[in-house]
Amino acid sequence: MKTNTHFCSILTALILAIPTKYSVAVPIKFADSIQQKPVVAILATGGTIAGYANKATEASYEPGVLSVEQIISSVPQIKDIAEIKAIQVCNISSQNMEEHIWFKIWHIADSLFKNNLCNGIVVTHGTDTMEETAYFLNLTLRHPNPVVITGAMKPATALSADGPANLFNAVALASYPDAYNKGVMVVMNDLIFCANDVTKSHTTNTGSFSAPNLGPLGHIRGGNPIFHRENKFIHTSRSEFDISSLSSLPQTEIVYAYAFASDLPISILTTNGTEGIVIAGVGHGNYNRPFAAAIQNAFEKGVRIVRSSRIHSGGVDESAEEYNKKIPVSFQKSPQKARILLMLALTKTKDPGDIAEIFKKY
Ligand code: GLU
Repeated sequence: MKTNTHFCSILTALILAIPTKYSVAVPIKFADSIQQKPVVAILATGGTIAGYANKATEASYEPGVLSVEQIISSVPQIKDIAEIKAIQVCNISSQNMEEHIWFKIWHIADSLFKNNLCNGIVVTHGTDTMEETAYFLNLTLRHPNPVVITGAMKPATALSADGPANLFNAVALASYPDAYNKGVMVVMNDLIFCANDVTKSHTTNTGSFSAPNLGPLGHIRGGNPIFHRENKFIHTSRSEFDISSLSSLPQTEIVYAYAFASDLPISILTTNGTEGIVIAGVGHGNYNRPFAAAIQNAFEKGVRIVRSSRIHSGGVDESAEEYNKKIPVSFQKSPQKARILLMLALTKTKDPGDIAEIFKKY
């Protein structure tokens, strides 16, 4: 691993080389010390882990207030396990996550790994869309190094804030030699999840993350990870998706099905340049006759559709009712994950058969 001074000068050069749109907007400061421990870069994006309330007992708070240095200063123990490099990517609530920020995170992480500037990366993130950023990076960051996303359900100022322990575990996992080649992971509340199955499943509780179909990849207590299973899906270094020359992804939306839903959203999307639509169907990816007609029309006009389900677990397989068999299914991916995979699939193909094959593999 390169020395600290070397790290700073190389990273400065790298950041200058990243297209302006993705350049880091705030000064970057690095810790001073001798390189012996694994190097972990913390890419901070905001969320509750950087949240602030006036009172420790207050449930309302503002996310994305504290800087990466302030977050790190609440967990000095992480410096015992790793050489920490801090980068403030942005400071937002994750419901405001934008495509250009995904690309910015990707460019920074790709540059760090390509230039051997760190062993692992921790991304601190709001919990609302954490699973989506994790899955995007899982499919696009073509490096074997550990990438761990974490956050908090209680702001940094709260009684029993969960952010510091989550950050400690995330840094420990990103430093762990056996965490390579596992795909992007999410660490929350002592559990380790795969990006492809993790989802936020409670709006406020500290135990809010789960993997409804496959279960957690493992657990981590006191910074000691134990893996329970393998991640069998294609990810990171084996992914076929190369976004290095892209700055946006094909427009892809999600349409939610429900009792007597109208065809209006699908019909509008079909005429406004949308390239892909994921249907969050009822039950096993089902939808009503108005949806079926609008989907057929969209399909014939070149919009690519994927059938998913609004149900929390179980997924959608190819055993269908009367639907167009050319429409791929999302298998165990939630609509929000299926949307990310469809966007990336559409960067390579518009062929429904090829899209269906991609959905089987990832
Ligand atoms: N809505 C905010 C966000 O996702 C706060 C939620 C959280 O971080 O837990 O950033």
